Amino acid sequence: MRMIRLYISEPTPAFTAGLILPLNIDQGRYLTSVMRKGAGDAVSIFNGRDGEWMAEIAEAGKKHVTLKLFEQTRAQPEGQGPVLAVALIKRSPLEYIVEKATELGASRIQLLMTRRTQSDHVKLERLKIIAQEAAEQTERLDVPEILPPIKMETFLAAPGADAIIFGDEDSTHEGNDRQTKPLLDVLSTLTNRPAVILIGPEGGFDDHERQALRAMENVHPVNLGPRILRADTAAISALTLYQAALGDWK
Ligand code: SAH
Repeated sequence: MRMIRLYISEPTPAFTAGLILPLNIDQGRYLTSVMRKGAGDAVSIFNGRDGEWMAEIAEAGKKHVTLKLFEQTRAQPEGQGPVLAVALIKRSPLEYIVEKATELGASRIQLLMTRRTQSDHVKLERLKIIAQEAAEQTERLDVPEILPPIKMETFLAAPGADAIIFGDEDSTHEGNDRQTKPLLDVLSTLTNRPAVILIGPEGGFDDHERQALRAMENVHPVNLGPRILRADTAAISALTLYQAALGDWK
């Protein structure tokens, strides 16, 4: 039976042995009513900063469940995974991307509005819960931040030396002699990490956006093969290759 893992999102003192942590109502109910756990049962917890700790249910009241921390079982990993900047797409593929990007170790997911994104409305709280549950399931010790949608121009204008790996569904573009490069070639040249992986909407990027992106020094237009991938396929494939070539799959 796999150990229950809980992400403690509320601010808490730094985890130390003996610390008593009150759980929020949902987590208390999940432990006692759903998982039918009681005082003395073990739970594994993480908060994104202090590593993974073994804890025990100290009190299992109806309204009040507390944990007592015992020992750190895993140190908080160093380093940051890649950032995924993805244009808003339909609800279920977007939720799928959030879950898979969490499993694949993305450190942040920046939602973007581009000229061809359908809607600018997104259920952010639901996406955050999906990320949190995926982080618990995948045994990460942090939860990727889900950043509310901003215009792509705003995102590109923000300072940041990060390399932007731009998934460009056009393998070539008139009036621009620079072809897209195979992703692995680009990854082999990247030194500064973490990089940003930029994936467009179902309708792709429009020519103005493509020109602006290609004009930026830190933007690397890459092709993800000869076929047009759906946005979720493209996001997952690019994250996978990034982790294998540069990230924590090494
Ligand atoms: N407008 C396109 C579909 C865009 S796919 C069409 O139907 O023709 C959504 C996003 O996935 C693209 O904006 C791009 O970022 C990425 N993508 C899909 N296939 C790709 C490929 N072969 N190379 C690079 N990026 C790709």
